Amino acid sequence: LSDRLSGIFSKLRSKGRLTDADIDATAREIRLALLEADVALPVVKAFIARLKERARGAEVSQALNPAQQVIKIVHEELVEVLGGESRRLRLAKQPPSVIMLAGLQGSGKTTLAGKLALHLKAQGHQPLLVAADLQRPNAVNQLQVLGGRAGVEVFAPEPGNGVGDPVAVAHASVEHARRHMRDIVIVDTAGRLGIDAEMMAQAAAIRDAVDPDEVLFVIDAMVGQDAVATAEAFRDGVGISGVVLSKLDGDARGGAALSVRHVTGEPILFASTGEKLEDFDVFHPDRMASRILGMGDVLTLIEQAEAAFEDDQKERMTAKLLGGQQFTLEDFLEQIVAVRRMGPIANILSMMPGMGQMKDQLAEVDDKHFDRITAIIRSMTPGERENPKVINASRRLRIANGSGVTVMEVNQLLNRFTEAQKIMKQMGGMMGLPGMRRKAT
Ligand code: GDP
Ligand code: MG
Repeated sequence: LSDRLSGIFSKLRSKGRLTDADIDATAREIRLALLEADVALPVVKAFIARLKERARGAEVSQALNPAQQVIKIVHEELVEVLGGESRRLRLAKQPPSVIMLAGLQGSGKTTLAGKLALHLKAQGHQPLLVAADLQRPNAVNQLQVLGGRAGVEVFAPEPGNGVGDPVAVAHASVEHARRHMRDIVIVDTAGRLGIDAEMMAQAAAIRDAVDPDEVLFVIDAMVGQDAVATAEAFRDGVGISGVVLSKLDGDARGGAALSVRHVTGEPILFASTGEKLEDFDVFHPDRMASRILGMGDVLTLIEQAEAAFEDDQKERMTAKLLGGQQFTLEDFLEQIVAVRRMGPIANILSMMPGMGQMKDQLAEVDDKHFDRITAIIRSMTPGERENPKVINASRRLRIANGSGVTVMEVNQLLNRFTEAQKIMKQMGGMMGLPGMRRKAT
């Protein structure tokens, strides 16, 4: 996707003025890009219509060229649709506040309940987790384990709390919270694999029993096109006041975010990004916009990339690749140092010559990680950098000690580098200039 977009934008960049035809062509490509990101078709259509309108009406900017202007508009529109500034949880004036979680089975509700409890506890609240999913045999236990980890009390069905009846359990929990000074009640509910009238009725009954301040609809970011139907069903069946996107640690482009926003009109409050309790974040529309477009903050990137990459370095690198020469750890280090000069790492990679193709290898990289990679490579001898094959076990240990990392990290770097080297080699081959020395792969 981002490759496609960089293609579009580089086309635009070479033009002086933005015509209607340019806008249409760009809009067509953006449309495909959004569909690839799994944004639902009606949502894409609405978005494109608005984009065209804005692009046509946009004043000619002095500071930006037309391509940069379009990029800026696309990004701004996405941020706008995704909710502008993120909203905070709505709490009751008179505690306890009640937050009810709803969503399909497997969407991540129970996990989120634990995360939310931990998050709120860290803010000084006294949450109570409520196990109102009595559908699955293990559901109560799952919540108890999570509650234990978060150090938060779990209200589970027991004689007196309403055994076997999730509505009674939920109802009793609010009274329990009041008596025990818990100021936020988090009600976990049951889901089904598909939209189901009985489940909806139960969720609605729980809602009526606890009168929630928030009904958070939890949706798996990987669901893609199904997001619209699911969100509509919960909007109509239970009513929702906010959205949580889960499993954003996966490789979903996050198109579901746009679809759900469009259908419900409700804000996305949180993002769930892994199986651990700490894998949780307040939702950031701007980051999600970048993720959907896969382009980072392209506007600043274009300038930063140009500044950080001195032309001679770029030329040397390109000449080297075209010449079919090995991409060495030395080159790798040089690139990393150039990248670090540009500021935060996320999404910068795709701007680097050849690095766009390596995104998968480098997907989990953060700034500190990059600094460690730099340290590791610096602990190698020039010979080792030129030819990493000589780095045997004892050399690995020496390098690890020298750079203050584990041998495992050295291994990981070398493995990733070998992959990268292969890709570089293929790219050199693909460029296929005459007279180039081709090495056997
Ligand atoms: P529920 O049926 O809606 O309560 O969903 P669960 O909370 O039980 O989650 C279903 C599965 O997804 C479990 O295996 C969780 O560990 C996993 N899960 C939940 N949230 C996330 C997330 O943000 N990232 C990842 N990778 N897995 C998640
Ligand atoms: Mg559950």
